[in-house]
Parts: sequence; structure tokens; C-alpha cells
Amino acid sequence: MENKAFDIKSMTLAEVKQAVEAMGEKPFRAKQLYEWMHVKLAMGYDEMTSLPKNLREQLEAQYPYTALREKTVQTSKLDGTKKYLFALADGNYVESVWMQYHHGNSVCISSQVGCRMGCRFCASTLGGLERNLTPSEMLDQIYAIARDTKERVSNVVVMGTGEPLDNYDNLLRFLQLISDENGLHISQRNITVSTCGIVENIRRLADEKLQITLALSLHGATQEKRQELMPVAKKYALEEVIDACRYYFDQTGRRITFEYSLVNGVNDTEADAETLCRLVSGLNCHVNLIPVNPIKERDYTASKRREVLNFQSRLEKKHIHATVRREMGRDIDGACGQLRRRLET
Ligand code: SF4
Repeated sequence: MENKAFDIKSMTLAEVKQAVEAMGEKPFRAKQLYEWMHVKLAMGYDEMTSLPKNLREQLEAQYPYTALREKTVQTSKLDGTKKYLFALADGNYVESVWMQYHHGNSVCISSQVGCRMGCRFCASTLGGLERNLTPSEMLDQIYAIARDTKERVSNVVVMGTGEPLDNYDNLLRFLQLISDENGLHISQRNITVSTCGIVENIRRLADEKLQITLALSLHGATQEKRQELMPVAKKYALEEVIDACRYYFDQTGRRITFEYSLVNGVNDTEADAETLCRLVSGLNCHVNLIPVNPIKERDYTASKRREVLNFQSRLEKKHIHATVRREMGRDIDGACGQLRRRLET
């Protein structure tokens, strides 16, 4: 089993056992170490007081331990939403968001530093992709927030900066670790991964037969409209993307969520709603309508409230389940990607 490729917090329990045994320690030490990392959310080896000092020293020498440092946090006075900017060990930054809903506490995490997908309405992509996040850097966003809020995280959405399926192997390992019964043990059914539609990796993920929810960023109901908003759509025909979503449902039994950002005058007309109905009819799905966040570098504006509600009722008349995403933390910073961008510019 290859485990040197991963830092210690990105290893499975079996891999941690192997690493600890290679240091001449008993397997139960691995379980203790794993619990310190993934349940007690330790910030460093020095906190792991139940481990012998010499083991901690060996670990320190062979497996440098990292934890995220909080750079800034903004808290909404309206709904308690918190937006965090974290510093990574290499000096990069990532954003994460904490939201409280009646059904539990939710954390939205980033999967990459920057993004290369180029969606026109998104601030995260303006500087391109810097690098992928490791599994532990994805976990650490949740761990840092759980430590800070001292509350249980029940839902995770991988919907912050980055295209998760462009960082497939690390994402998969993250999903395995966050839902592991020896760690935080967040139910896969409470995890959503949002993709702009990397067809081959939607199919790979379907074959894993996990119980996570797949959210597809649709944003346009025709190939042309989609391409206008999402350059990545040029690579994948819309029918291929929808076919991959159907395949995901067939393999996992999980209802697909379609994310549809409503951009004033671009994709929010009655005709757009009708086309969307035709596109997704027959699919076991849910449409999440998002009034787009304005970003100053692009000239898109959000649809008017009336247009949003009209759009929703047109879908519902065709028996397509549609909700309007509640805007959380409206009084703090704007769209995802803007905190990091402001810091860098
Ligand atoms: S919306 Fe997501 S996939 Fe598109 S550019 Fe932004 S971060 Fe990347």
C-alpha cells in the first residue's frame, strides 16, 4: 500500500497503521493518532498527549503536520453565517463558509486554490488555477470551523472555490475520510458535491456508488446558453452531461440537483424556463435557482425577485421540483472567491 504520497492526515486508518507499525509501534497507537487527527481535531502532535513523546518526535520528523490558520472571519448579523479565509502552509488562501439551517449546521468548502473552469459569473476563476487541495486541506476547513464554532457539522457542500471533479483522486479520498466511522463520520447523504459537468468523472463517481448528492451547475438549458456562461461547456455536449447525470442516478439512486444561477436578461426568460423543463423532464431531479451574485469584474446582474419567482412557478407547473436558494450572509462579503481575490489584489 502506497502511503508516502499523502500527508498523515490524508491517510486512511489502514495506512496510518502501516506508518505507525513501520516505526515499531503497536497498532493501537495508530487508532489513537487517527482519533487525535479526525475526532479531537488536534492542531499539532504536541496536543496528542496520550502518545509517547518519542513517537510524537518520530512523527514530527517523518510526517510534517499541518492545520489551517484562520486569516479572517466575517460573521453575518442577519443569520450568523460565517465566512472564513484560511491560510495554507504554502502561503495560499482558501475560503469556506459556515451556515446554520433548521436541519443542521452546514460547511461549504473549497476544493482547489483558484479554478481553471472560467465560468463567467464566478470570481474564483479570475486568476486561474493555482493548485489542487490535498484531502487533508479539504478536511481541515471543516475541522477548523468545528473547532471555532464548537458545534457539530452535519452537512458538507463541496461548492466553494474550485471544480471538485478536476481534483478527482483527492476529492474521493476526502469523501472517504469525512464519512469514515472512525473520524467525524458525516453521513454521505449529507454531503453534496457540485460540478460544472466533467462528464467522464461524473461517470467515475457514479461507479463508486457513494450515497452523496451530485449537484450539476447547469445555468443554461441549451448548449449555446451554457457555453456563453461556462466555457467548459464547449468540451461537453449538453446531452452528454445530462446522460451522465442520468447514469449517476441509475447507479446510486440519488436524486440529482441542478443548480441554475439566474442572470438578469441572459437565462431568466419564460422561454428559458420552458426549455429547462423539456431538458430535465423525466429525470429524478431538483432544481435549485440561485439569484447570481454580482461581481465587479463582469457586468452580470441578478434577476429581479419577481422574475425568479415566475421562473420557479413555471417549473413547478410542469411538476419539476424547484427551490430558490436562500441567500445566507447577505450583509457580509459577496460571492465565493471574492475574499481571496481581494486579499491578493
Ligand atoms: S463556478 Fe465553480 S467551476 Fe465555475 S469557475 Fe467558479 S469555482 Fe470554477
